[in-house]
Amino acid sequence: TYVASKVKNCEETGFESTLIRLPEDSTEATLLDTIQSLNQNQDIDGILVQLPLPKHISEEKVIEAIDPRKDVDGFHPSNIGRLVQGLPTFIPATPYGILLMLEHFNIPTKGKHAVVIGRSNIVGRPMSTLLSSNIPQGNCTVTLCHSHTPNLKEICQQADILVAALGKPEFVTPDMVKPGAVIIDVGITRVADATAKKGFRIKGDVHYDSVSAVASAITPVPGGVGLMTIAGLLKNTLQAYLNNRG
Ligand code: NAD
Repeated sequence: TYVASKVKNCEETGFESTLIRLPEDSTEATLLDTIQSLNQNQDIDGILVQLPLPKHISEEKVIEAIDPRKDVDGFHPSNIGRLVQGLPTFIPATPYGILLMLEHFNIPTKGKHAVVIGRSNIVGRPMSTLLSSNIPQGNCTVTLCHSHTPNLKEICQQADILVAALGKPEFVTPDMVKPGAVIIDVGITRVADATAKKGFRIKGDVHYDSVSAVASAITPVPGGVGLMTIAGLLKNTLQAYLNNRG
């Protein structure tokens, strides 16, 4: 689903995209060779490897093999290092999309308490870094929560901005939310539902109907952070093009 919508969005935006689909049993060496040839191809400005990878391939090695100047997902350790230091970089697409949304809706962040649930390298951790950075959509005091956080409910109740990125459908309920808080739901989980056409529904990490009654702003799933993630990815790709051609 993700890959198809990325290809479609590239077409709609006027980007040329190439989808390389390797067989699941391809070796790590084959994938690394493929990345090397894309690194060297001057017609290519951005490369992304759709995760997760099969178990026999090291994600770490593969991400490190991508030329950081073409790493439009922003997952390469040198780009993450730049992000932490506040240097120009490719911001991982999901946190980038969230920043764009905060900007678009003029959500004040300075001095606010932001709580991020989830510490993954692709969402929670970079999101917490960005919200605490000295940038227009930053300057928050940030609490980063994860599976070993005790008193999660009490911490969430203190959040002016709550980012849920744990992958547990409808985990956040109104009793965890401060009235007027801004709720950003990153979660995407397929939940079986015999009444749905496809046999499943996509659920976020927030119980939307009940939490929207107490929140001042809330993102829906689907149709919220997922769309903005693709926007973030396309903006990174445009930036890579400008950097490489400029
Ligand atoms: P992940 O599994 O890598 O990380 C989940 C994190 O949540 C971990 O750090 C874990 O410690 C924490 N966690 C798990 N259970 C918890 C609990 N009960 N209390 C507190 N913390 C808990 O997941 P991820 O890749 O960051 O993705 C999270 C969710 O966001 C998934 O549903 C994923 O599908 C979705 N996602 C959406 C987009 C998008 O474009 N909208 C992009 C990436 C991921």
